[in-house]
Amino acid sequence: MNYLNIFMGRKLNQLSFDVVVIGGGASGMMAAFWSAKKGARVVLIEKNKDLGKKVLATGKGRCNITQENFNKESVIEAFGKKGRFLFSGLNQFDVAKTKDFFEKNGLKLKTERGGRVFPKSDNAQEVIDFFKKLLTENGVVYEKETFIKSFEIKNGEIKKIVTKKSEIKAKKVILCTGGKSYPTTGSTGDGYKWAKEFGHKIIKPIPALSPIKTINKWAYELQGVSLKNVNLSIFQNDKKQTERFGEMLFTHYGISGPIVLDVSKEVGKLIKKDRVKISIDLKPALEFKELEKRIQKDFEKYHTRKFANSLNNLLPQKMIPVIIKLSKIDPNKKCCEISKEKRKDLTSLLKNLTLNVEDLVGFDNAIITSGGIDLGEIDQKTMQSKKIKNLYLAGEIIDLDGPTGGFNLQLCWTTGYLAGISAPARLFIKN
Ligand SMILES: Cc1cc2nc3c(=O)[nH]c(=O)nc-3n(C[C@H](O)[C@H](O)[C@H](O)COP(=O)(O)OP(=O)(O)OC[C@H]3O[C@@H](n4cnc5c(N)ncnc54)[C@H](O)[C@@H]3O)c2cc1C
Repeated sequence: MNYLNIFMGRKLNQLSFDVVVIGGGASGMMAAFWSAKKGARVVLIEKNKDLGKKVLATGKGRCNITQENFNKESVIEAFGKKGRFLFSGLNQFDVAKTKDFFEKNGLKLKTERGGRVFPKSDNAQEVIDFFKKLLTENGVVYEKETFIKSFEIKNGEIKKIVTKKSEIKAKKVILCTGGKSYPTTGSTGDGYKWAKEFGHKIIKPIPALSPIKTINKWAYELQGVSLKNVNLSIFQNDKKQTERFGEMLFTHYGISGPIVLDVSKEVGKLIKKDRVKISIDLKPALEFKELEKRIQKDFEKYHTRKFANSLNNLLPQKMIPVIIKLSKIDPNKKCCEISKEKRKDLTSLLKNLTLNVEDLVGFDNAIITSGGIDLGEIDQKTMQSKKIKNLYLAGEIIDLDGPTGGFNLQLCWTTGYLAGISAPARLFIKN
């Protein structure tokens, strides 16, 4: 019999469940489905009005659901040394199995440039609807707008969960409350506080994949300008720390976009020690000399034009006034009147457009949280806590964070699956 039907006629506080999943994000929905699929009576508790609020924001509303190139070989590059923690999970539920799971259950997928996988519909809402259907079909009860107040722990096990509406008895608990980034989606770090109470060590959460605030106000004037195929280098004390090639964006507080998000974790660490500079090479395909020649050619072609009207082939329209200001060349000067020295300075500016970092934008706009529950205290095969016997952990709450491109959601699918199948595993074995 569908457990939902039994539930409908009774009050939540009169029931006990085999598995209580806390947090209805990507990892929680995945874990709840697999626990139910394994035969457990499952309740999914979410404090928001609906499930998956953060999923709706992913991939700019398109949901970059996974990453084709996420495998045992690339996991260290993506997640650092800690990525080894996922080896066992990937053996059980890798990208191919994840894609299979979505497609076989009716969500069609497509792969784009860079191995980014999206729903064919380009609509993140479809992912939520997909899970809601599966959860309902498998009898998962989902309790929305329900806030956990406390836990009752006896003999190293969670016995009861007290919410503002009820007390829920649980045999197993899966904690999937996410990190601290984008708190408006519900991820306010509650799980860290509880995990600490349970005796877990929390690696200090810091914003990662965060836009960067710059001191230079000219950057704000470029708000909305998106640059493709640029090279971004990070410097501290004149020493290059790291670099990225690709796409970036100017915002009202500084810079964002894929390559900026990717270097942000490192910038966040560096800025705590000393000042950080960012150099943008707007024309990385051309060596300094080649670019200088190209500018010279343009100036010869437009020799009677004002400097202000000579950069159209070189830069996006909105960038031209800013570059003119920074170049300190009189915009009314004719191209033929610009000295070789000034031309060189302009070339330098385009090869090395420098920004001074104020800070990361912070949790409010960070895509992901770095830090979280110490991996050494979690069994990587099952996601079971080594501190509390009947507790399982999945998703962003654990101390793993990856780059953009679908890596972070795949982490949720893999760990959600592991916790989901492992939590009920011993429930139905007769003594
Ligand atoms: C703007 C944006 C775009 C992104 N785009 C992508 C992308 O395209 N691809 C990708 O791979 N990753 C992307 N990410 C990252 C990805 O969304 C997250 O890593 C992932 O959603 C984390 O899922 P989670 O289930 O661990 O946690 P969350 O999604 O944070 O879910 C946790 C849930 O727990 C609930 N909760 C918290 N506290 C309580 C409580 N006390 N009681 C009850 N419920 C509670 C919250 O309301 C929330 O619904 C993006 C992130 C952002 C912010």
